[in-house]
Amino acid sequence: MRAMVLGHAGQVLSLDEVAIPEPEDGQVLLRVLACGICRTDLHIVDGELDRPKLPLIPGHQIVGETDDGRRLGVPWLGWTCGECRYCTSARENLCDFARFTGYDIDGGYAEWAVAYERYCFPVPDGFEDLQAAPLLCAGLIGYRSLRLAGEGERLGLYGFGASAHIVAQVARHEGRRVFAVTREGDDDAQAFARELGAEWAGAGPPPEELDAAIIFAPVGSLVPAALAAVAKGGSVVCAGIHMSDIPSFPYELLWGERALRSVANLTRGDGEEFLALAPRVPVRTQVETFPLEQANEALAKLRRGEVRGALVLVP
Ligand SMILES: [Zn+2]
Ligand SMILES: [Zn+2]
Repeated sequence: MRAMVLGHAGQVLSLDEVAIPEPEDGQVLLRVLACGICRTDLHIVDGELDRPKLPLIPGHQIVGETDDGRRLGVPWLGWTCGECRYCTSARENLCDFARFTGYDIDGGYAEWAVAYERYCFPVPDGFEDLQAAPLLCAGLIGYRSLRLAGEGERLGLYGFGASAHIVAQVARHEGRRVFAVTREGDDDAQAFARELGAEWAGAGPPPEELDAAIIFAPVGSLVPAALAAVAKGGSVVCAGIHMSDIPSFPYELLWGERALRSVANLTRGDGEEFLALAPRVPVRTQVETFPLEQANEALAKLRRGEVRGALVLVP
C-alpha cells in the first residue's frame, strides 16, 4: 500500500510502498477513506513530541471501512492498559501505558490501517467521510475542553482552527456567547468565526469579561492574556498537547478563584458523548482536502496558519 512515512523528526514525510498491516488480536483492518490532519501531527513531525515510533505513519483522525462494510472512526487514544490507577478511575485518557494512534501505533496517512476495535467509534450517519474525519480529534478534544471549561455563558476561543470551528458550533447550540481571539491581522479567521456564530472576533482582548477561555493556539503567552480576560471564578483550559513556554505573570491574574488547566487526550466516554451530540447540533465541519501524497504540502499549510476549518487527506 502507499503510505506517507516519517523516518526521522524534522524530515518531510516520504511516500513509501509498505506492506498492508496485519491486525493483531483485538485489532481490525480498515481501508482508510479519509484521515484528518491535526496540529499534533505537526508537533510530531517537527520533533516537539519526541517519542514517536519510527518509522511512523502519522494520522489519528481516521475514517475507515471494515471488510464487512462498517464505517469506524479511529481517534488519538489507541489503547489503554485497563489496570492502572487512571484506567480504573474513569480517567483512561491519563493511562500511564496508553498507546496513541499515529504516534505509538501507525496511523491513517495510508491506504490501510489497523486499530484496536474497542477504541474505535461508529461514524455517525449523516456525516460524509471527509466531514466526519475532523470530529475525531479536533471535535473530540474540543468537546472535552468545553466540558472542562465549565458551564459559563461567555466563552473565549483563542486560536480559531479546526477545533475551535467545531467548538464554536457546539457552544452556540448550548446557548453560550462566543468570542474568538485570533492572530493580529487574521481577517479571514475572524470572519470565519463570525460566520459560525461568534459575536465578536478580533486580535486584542475581548470587549467584555469571559467566564471561560479555551486556548487552542500553541502559544504560551496566551495563558496570562486569557487569565486576564476571564472573570472571577472563571477557567482557562489549554487544549493543545504542546505549547511554547508560559511567561511568568502576577498572582493577581489567578487570584479570585480563577482556574488554569490542561486537557490531555480523550476517554471513550468523551467520544460516545460527542459523536451522539454532533448530529444534533448539527456540527458542520468545513474541510479542505489533499490527496495522500500531498501530506507535506498540507502540513506546511497548517504550519503557516492558512487553513479555514480542517484539513483532510484522502488516499
Ligand atoms: Zn492504564
Ligand atoms: Zn489531534
